[in-house]
Amino acid sequence: SSGRDIRVRFAPSPTGKLHLGGLRTALLNYLFAKKAGGKIVLRIEDTDRKRTIPGAADAILKTLKWAGIEFDESFEKGGKYGPYIQSERNELYQKYADEMIKNDKAYRCFCTTETLEEIRNKAIHEGRIPVYDRRCSKLDAQSIQKRIDAGDKFVVRLKCPKDINLVNDVVYGTIKMGLAQLDDAVLLKSDGTPTYHLAHPVDDHYMKITHVFRGEEWLPSTPKHLAVFRALGWEPPQYVHLPLLLNTDGTKLSKRNMDTEVEGYINKGYMAEALVNFVAFLGWTPKLRQNQKQIPDSDLNAKLEGKTKANSVNSEVMNLSQLVKV
Ligand code: GLU
Repeated sequence: SSGRDIRVRFAPSPTGKLHLGGLRTALLNYLFAKKAGGKIVLRIEDTDRKRTIPGAADAILKTLKWAGIEFDESFEKGGKYGPYIQSERNELYQKYADEMIKNDKAYRCFCTTETLEEIRNKAIHEGRIPVYDRRCSKLDAQSIQKRIDAGDKFVVRLKCPKDINLVNDVVYGTIKMGLAQLDDAVLLKSDGTPTYHLAHPVDDHYMKITHVFRGEEWLPSTPKHLAVFRALGWEPPQYVHLPLLLNTDGTKLSKRNMDTEVEGYINKGYMAEALVNFVAFLGWTPKLRQNQKQIPDSDLNAKLEGKTKANSVNSEVMNLSQLVKV
């Protein structure tokens, strides 16, 4: 966008082995960068320490290398930046959470799990969308300080503007989001580490990323991310949400039917070229998906609201293989 140098990133969570879907995301990023004469950088998204598996990041890198995907900014190449590792960037996220609090774009929330559960149940009971009711945004400075001094735990929540309900996506077109997608998301957890909703905008701004290729499961969260970009006065990237890999009958790829981990193919002796070719050809969309009008969101919130539908999840809008054809 606006004449910036094309920069993309692959941002795996080191929670396990690289799957076919991850390989495809990396490949599309890589091809898009190469086609545009741009850069592709690696980011390790390890903010969820409980799910992080030691050695997983190295294993993912090794598998990508096997497939011929290398990064422009990496320690291996003597790059001074990368790979970017989120767990080493906590101060940065905290700084922007503080800035957002100061500018009234976010607020501290002291609600306990039980209170949140009550708010949610009450809303469902009354037939409303169960979003956070913002009660903590009304606390005055004095009572906030008192609770901090008392050692009460808090999270930092985004004050999500309600007018941020249109998302432009390269694949899906313009999607109208419902109230459930404009919830005041947690940005900083009570242990002071960021959620993805804060880490993604901060990092992609810092890494000067122009296009975010990521799985479509993030599409419903995009208004929150746009809200953070807006709150901090930053230009958002273009979003390219990638439909999930499915079996031809529309069901999710499962281990029962085939190897879902790339390593499985390496161990069986497949050539990298063959697997890359296979994954690249998964850029087109089976007819079946044209009937799928509902945006994917396993969240009950979205299902409760009939309005939470894509205008048209139109597989003809953009053919992914056209997007990256070299
Ligand atoms: N760490 C995220 C995942 O593995 C990546 C999302 C992104 O690319 O922004 O799902």
